[in-house]
Amino acid sequence: MSTVRLAHLYPEQMNIYADRGNIAVFAQRLAWRGLQLDIAEFGIGDTLDPNAHDLYYLGGGQDRDQRIVAHDLVATKADALRSAANNGAAFLWVCGGIQLAGTGYTDASGQRLPGVGILDVDTVAGDSRLIGDLVITTTLKELHCQVVGYENHVGRTLLGGDAEPLGTVVKGHGNDGESGYEGATRNRIIGTYLHGPLLPKNPQLADLLLSWALAHGGHPTQLEPLDDSLAATARTVAASRAGLAR
Ligand code: GLN
Repeated sequence: MSTVRLAHLYPEQMNIYADRGNIAVFAQRLAWRGLQLDIAEFGIGDTLDPNAHDLYYLGGGQDRDQRIVAHDLVATKADALRSAANNGAAFLWVCGGIQLAGTGYTDASGQRLPGVGILDVDTVAGDSRLIGDLVITTTLKELHCQVVGYENHVGRTLLGGDAEPLGTVVKGHGNDGESGYEGATRNRIIGTYLHGPLLPKNPQLADLLLSWALAHGGHPTQLEPLDDSLAATARTVAASRAGLAR
């Protein structure tokens, strides 16, 4: 049976807005197809084997927790993560996650938190929070569709020359409230501000990440279509709550 090996980073510190729900979606969408998810959790002080995982997940967190995590990431995991990223492993890093995937995050107190540098983005806290429903159109070459979620961040993220946005903002603020971009991507890495959790309402994105992870593990990547009508309804409701006509 094909198995996707998932590394869940800092599940205790980085889990606001039920981001752990994204893991449940990965597991269930594989199970429905007779495939399996192996989950390994990594916390403060744990080291990582860069060849042992196909998919790396990091959720969002409060600035206080993010500070602890940022220093630990750089001290114990950054080299392995950079090597995994360059070897084609898949990444989904949400909110505080996209900030720590970049070169760094200057938080609201002016403190500079280091990032691991797998995405060419940099983040600086602004003087207001960017909050609300968020709808984007993805610009990924594999996937052009609407993706919905919720954002709540003080950080403003700017893309460098080596990062593409995940998508363009249809409704909401996105990376910085000005550029019209949301998230960032490079290779098989996705960083985004979309919480909610993201994947229950956006199964197409879940399947893209799973197909990348399967490819990394040397497995067939064709995923049987599933009945996603409930998720489609949830997306319509979220889009209308964001102010878009049904
Ligand atoms: N601390 C970050 C910010 O407010 C991330 C918040 C989050 O992960 N929700 O910008």
